[in-house]
Amino acid sequence: MHASSFQPPPRTLMGPGPADVHPRVLAALARPTIGHLDPAFSAMMEELKGLLRYAFRTDNTLTMPVSAPGSAGMETCFVNLVEPGDKVIVCVNGVFGARMRENVLRAGGTPVVVEDPWGRAVNPSMLEDTLQRHPDARLVAFVHAETSTGACSDAKTLAELARTYDCLTIVDAVTSLGGSPLEVDAWGIDAVYAGSQKCLSCTPGLAPVSFSERALAKVKARQTPVRSWFMDLNLVLGYWQASDCGGGRRSYHHTAPVNALYALHEALVMLAEEGIENAWERHRNNHLALRAGLEALGLEMVVPEPERLPQLNAVAVPGGIDEAAVRSRLLATYNLEIGAGLGALAGKVWRIGLMGWSSRAENILLCLGALGSVLNDMGHSADTGVALSAAQAALGR
Ligand SMILES: *Cc1c(COP(=O)(O)O)cnc(C)c1O
Repeated sequence: MHASSFQPPPRTLMGPGPADVHPRVLAALARPTIGHLDPAFSAMMEELKGLLRYAFRTDNTLTMPVSAPGSAGMETCFVNLVEPGDKVIVCVNGVFGARMRENVLRAGGTPVVVEDPWGRAVNPSMLEDTLQRHPDARLVAFVHAETSTGACSDAKTLAELARTYDCLTIVDAVTSLGGSPLEVDAWGIDAVYAGSQKCLSCTPGLAPVSFSERALAKVKARQTPVRSWFMDLNLVLGYWQASDCGGGRRSYHHTAPVNALYALHEALVMLAEEGIENAWERHRNNHLALRAGLEALGLEMVVPEPERLPQLNAVAVPGGIDEAAVRSRLLATYNLEIGAGLGALAGKVWRIGLMGWSSRAENILLCLGALGSVLNDMGHSADTGVALSAAQAALGR
């Protein structure tokens, strides 16, 4: 069998994730592998947990990365917190909310779905209605930043409502962590999961999670064992949390992805250096610049203004334009990746990501210039120069 080393083509990643990974993070990944029980590695793990608490804005002791992608963070929350027979209210306004419902079913729970239109935030009064009609519900689950549509829900209000009705919350923050304000403690969120490859700009494959004391108490009080061996927190914590529980020694659960954790550590060090509020503001300002340019190209945003995510811009495909052909041209000619629509929005929108290290001025100008040029070639006349000036003016503000 003949094969040679894989050399990825140069790309600019402006889709729904992964985002561009900073060279510092790639360099961290290439450092020598050491044992996952080495005391030097344990010290790095402790610092990593502290950095994750900083990013989540929480003091939760149980804050750690799951050794698998964002979807495994989702599953960790559901398999640990949902017991057979538990009624769980799931707010669905896109692809990832629908996956939460599926997770409830597989954990043996009974989902009660609150449906919101795709492209809109979760409606708090519909959640409240459902909470009133289902006083036996134990949990409320929703997606903070719905990457499939670009809608941001009011996580603070939704979590407060859930608490008022004595429900725990499970919140998907895969795309919000590091990109939009997220206050796990101040908003009273009980279980939250994220991903390494979106606004943290790390390589894909890790899922930071955080559980409140209330959530952990529910896990400890389970009548039935967690249905997943790998994700059972009672077992995982023997590795990740030994030192927080009276200084015991870490014990083997699974071999931690040592180098991937170096990379996440580096990505979080960079976030702390920038300051998380500054990162939120950078995402917001760059979104405004991209939006100014897109509108100057004659394109329309899908999500209404107050519900828009800065890091994921859903743009309507103009009539008569083949959306897949545009993406192929952008990739082939400009090495630029943008995302397609998913589910109900497939074929109708592009999803342009400005996540983490991808959220910078040069990417905005590349995207507007490339998109304007491809659209013109395909018969949608657009003034690329005006779009670039509009974005530059917004960037200069
Ligand atoms: C990307 C994403 C996920 C899944 O993360 P993976 O790392 O792809 O498993 C879950 N929820 C949201 C909102 C996402 O954007």
